Amino acid sequence: MHFDRLINNSAAIVGCLAWIPLAVWIMACVHWSIGGDIDVITGVLGIFMAVGLGYEAINPPVPQMAPLTVIAVLVTVFMFPFVRNAMDKRELRGIDIEALEKAYQSLGLRPDNIIAQFKIAKILFDLGVCGHALRIAESLAPQMPQRFFTEELRTLKKWQLLQIDARFFSAISCSECHAPNDPGNIFCRSCGAPFLLEFAKGRVVGNRLGKKLITTWISLVAMLIGIPLARLLPTALSIVAVLTMMVCAIGLVFLAFRDTTGGVAN
Ligand SMILES: [Zn+2]
Repeated sequence: MHFDRLINNSAAIVGCLAWIPLAVWIMACVHWSIGGDIDVITGVLGIFMAVGLGYEAINPPVPQMAPLTVIAVLVTVFMFPFVRNAMDKRELRGIDIEALEKAYQSLGLRPDNIIAQFKIAKILFDLGVCGHALRIAESLAPQMPQRFFTEELRTLKKWQLLQIDARFFSAISCSECHAPNDPGNIFCRSCGAPFLLEFAKGRVVGNRLGKKLITTWISLVAMLIGIPLARLLPTALSIVAVLTMMVCAIGLVFLAFRDTTGGVAN
């Protein structure tokens, strides 16, 4: 009797506490939908998921579901920092691309601008195009007197000490003329296009880890909440409901992943 009450009380406390992270989750879903990080459908589903989880955490409609709901809330809470991290990284990469575009513009005005050239190398390195970044920086080194370029030369030395994998030094095809460009070129050696800028943009578009995580998780939880609830319906209806949910969930996950391969192929 006493034990029962203890369990009921702790379930009620967990139920109430669950609303705090769920509120954060709902705000994030709104933010990501508006910012275009996830589809509006996924965002709306994510909000419904959070409201459903929060409601079921307080009044579980099927008693056996209570522990599952608590687990789903906990996983959502623990996963949230990783998802947000992936999203923030994407945002940072967007800022890097802007900086890269600006550096290319200043280079267009003054082609011998060493500072802009080194900046391009540095941003490319941050974006993971490190082999090409290293070769560009190395080709600039003879024109960089130690006195004026202390910081740049220190950065270059740091990069040289890293054992960069050989695959980062493979040629990159120009997006305009498809000529392969070995590391060290800032502009395409054949047509002069800023091929590394286009390559970096393609990489950022392709990186949608956060979107994949969110969509997969929302689909899983929607089923976790939905399938036990569907059992409350008459048999024929419940089968239709479960099938509809499964098709929607699989469809959303499929779309999120297909989006990624499209980005990489560019
Ligand atoms: Zn070209």
